Amino acid sequence: TYRPTPGVVTDALAELLERFAPLREGSLADYIPQLALADPDDFGIALVSMEGHCYQAGRADVPFTVQSVSKPFVYALALSRLGLEEVTRWVGTEPSGDVFNAISLEPRTGRPANAMINAGAIATTALVPGTTPEERFGHILDCLSRFAGRCLDVDEDVYASEARTGDRNRALAFLLSSAGTLPGDPSEAVDTYFRQCSVRVTAADLAVMTATLANSGVNPVTGETVVSEEVAVQVLAVMASCGMYDASGDWLLRVGLPAKSGVSGGLVAAGPARFGIAVFSPPLDVHGNSVRGVAALRDLSERFGLHLMRRP
Ligand code: GLN
Repeated sequence: TYRPTPGVVTDALAELLERFAPLREGSLADYIPQLALADPDDFGIALVSMEGHCYQAGRADVPFTVQSVSKPFVYALALSRLGLEEVTRWVGTEPSGDVFNAISLEPRTGRPANAMINAGAIATTALVPGTTPEERFGHILDCLSRFAGRCLDVDEDVYASEARTGDRNRALAFLLSSAGTLPGDPSEAVDTYFRQCSVRVTAADLAVMTATLANSGVNPVTGETVVSEEVAVQVLAVMASCGMYDASGDWLLRVGLPAKSGVSGGLVAAGPARFGIAVFSPPLDVHGNSVRGVAALRDLSERFGLHLMRRP
């Protein structure tokens, strides 16, 4: 198996931090007012190996809301409970080529294109079993916590901010409902989705969560089997094709790792059977992906030959 030499990893992360901290491009997401209060200079990187070693550089312990980085992990939960066939009846598996919050459904099926964009994530959240909204969200928070290996909680200010301003996501939920591709009540689904996006994490947490996917569903720090290997592989495959919204093709070409980004500035990437890595830096590019995150992971992948299509 691949064993990164500890000194090499620590040095590489520190170097990435130093190289890309001066990058001043991008802008903070402000359509959720609370996210506009982020510190654009926050910058942290964390990597977790398959042996459960955690490496960090910079502000890897600063909390922020998980936002869209929750999508692959809740997709994993839905797949675990319902299986791929049932989940794909509701949510597709094709890259959309559209922006993350696009008002669009597949023409023939009426499904959202995939679970990594908002429409598909709202449908995925609605698929999580539970008799009450509290129970459904309880399963989601519990699952995210198992992936992270510690009890996570909700940032109520960000939740309230998004719930107040989230009409576009509300519109998406009602559109899905009218197309018959949203199980249950649309208001409830979107509210649970807002809560899911408001779960507080650090870059260090996200690295453990992603390392769990890379490690066939077993959390390498706690040793717990969070999802089956089959589900972990399915989620990584959809991250590889759809995780970076309408920049997914370019990302797969240049970086070559399954990944997922979010509007608060989190970005995760998995090296299957090797590592999980997470970057936190709030300024975003036009696709809604962290500018420093993209730059740092691209550099790391090139330098260490991490592209999946290369010989290991
Ligand atoms: N909560 C955000 C939204 O739905 C998540 C989007 C994202 O991270 N890209 O708009």
